[in-house]
Amino acid sequence: MAARITKKCIGCGVCVDVCPYGALELFEGQAIVSGHCTVCGSCAEVCPANAIEIEGAASEGLGAQDKAAWSGVWVFAEREGDGFAPVVRELLTKGRALGDELGEKVTAVLLGSGVTDWAGELIAAGADDVLVVDHLDLADPLIEPYMRTLVELVVNRKPAIMLAGATTLGRSVMPAVAAVLETGLTADCTALAIDSETRLLRQTRPTFGGNLMATIVCPERRPQMATVRPHVFQAGEPDPGRQGTTTVVEMDKAVFTTATTFMTKHVELAEGERLEDADVIIAGGRGMGKPESLTLLNDLAKLFDGAVGASRPPVDEGWLPYVHQVGQTGKTVGPKLYLACGISGAIQHTAGMATSEIVVAINRDADAPIFELADFGLVGDVNEILPALIERLKKERG
Ligand SMILES: Cc1cc2nc3c(=O)[nH]c(=O)nc-3n(C[C@H](O)[C@H](O)[C@H](O)COP(=O)(O)OP(=O)(O)OC[C@H]3O[C@@H](n4cnc5c(N)ncnc54)[C@H](O)[C@@H]3O)c2cc1C
Repeated sequence: MAARITKKCIGCGVCVDVCPYGALELFEGQAIVSGHCTVCGSCAEVCPANAIEIEGAASEGLGAQDKAAWSGVWVFAEREGDGFAPVVRELLTKGRALGDELGEKVTAVLLGSGVTDWAGELIAAGADDVLVVDHLDLADPLIEPYMRTLVELVVNRKPAIMLAGATTLGRSVMPAVAAVLETGLTADCTALAIDSETRLLRQTRPTFGGNLMATIVCPERRPQMATVRPHVFQAGEPDPGRQGTTTVVEMDKAVFTTATTFMTKHVELAEGERLEDADVIIAGGRGMGKPESLTLLNDLAKLFDGAVGASRPPVDEGWLPYVHQVGQTGKTVGPKLYLACGISGAIQHTAGMATSEIVVAINRDADAPIFELADFGLVGDVNEILPALIERLKKERG
């Protein structure tokens, strides 16, 4: 993969100046590629003589792929701390089901530094194969090296489907991969299935402000790419006895070139347990009335060892930080118990909590839509019901 300078080059040097990687230089009045070209396309965009063509993945050209040569389901195994982001196990479980339906293999793709030994965990979670690129330059999740490593792997190994979590990293890297490969990506999917006739991946996601569900297919290009929000799919139990293969792939160091330096990581922590991991979520909406009432949510959450969630209005009002927001533009959660206090049940909210095992709603409006979803409903004022509930629980627990 590289930029190709054609005879139309007029030697103006504009491309040399614009290349972010210093991969071009002027030689005898012509631009030449003298360093590692990342096929970012910046040079071709500015060339006044249209003298630069981009070769490689992107230049396979729309419609030029032999789709029969692409097979298998890939899952991007995003790391988190000393393990994997929880969504990885969810995607491997779902990917396993899709792979079984297609009769194709499931491959986990693991990038990082000192991570090769972690591959067994991915096999136990459902992968048949693990592709590992283990290099010091991949220690920090920087977009360009991750993107180029994934592109190299895809171009050389041709998966039919590629899945990643709709996490901060997945949302940043996967669109870049899709753009270079000139393929489609459906972001934030809430359902995935195989079309029994066409064998295409049916990718479903909310659209038009959550009022419609759109099912999208990518018939012409490969891989078919999707990001999926955490907690949309259930992770299966790991099977430590599962057998699989691990392949460590060597990459040209130039693939890891980047103009970006990783400086520091800042994690914004919600008070108490993380929403995504909580078994019990006590969530409040506009019906809580005032920020002071949120202490009721905190008190109750503490009694359940749970976390505090919120609909969008309390976050917009600044009563709570954004990390607490549940819904279409917040977090997707799937706790054992979700207590919705003073929340009407707008679709943009329920999109983020509808998979909760048990939903209990407190609302003073008996016709509030949240009661359609709730397993148990209490019609009344949160400012009366919550203090009574807290007092009762405290008394019962001594
Ligand atoms: C593109 C887009 C994205 C969005 N993303 C999100 C999102 O991620 N998350 C989200 O939550 N929203 C989101 N929204 C906003 C969403 O449409 C709703 O406006 C929001 O969910 C309503 O929040 P609410 O239920 O707290 O407030 P309201 O709809 O105002 O409901 C308040 C409820 O409290 C009840 N109530 C009032 N006082 C009391 C009381 N004293 N005791 C008991 N009940 C009481 C009322 O009967 C009412 O049902 C989004 C909207 C758009 C357009």
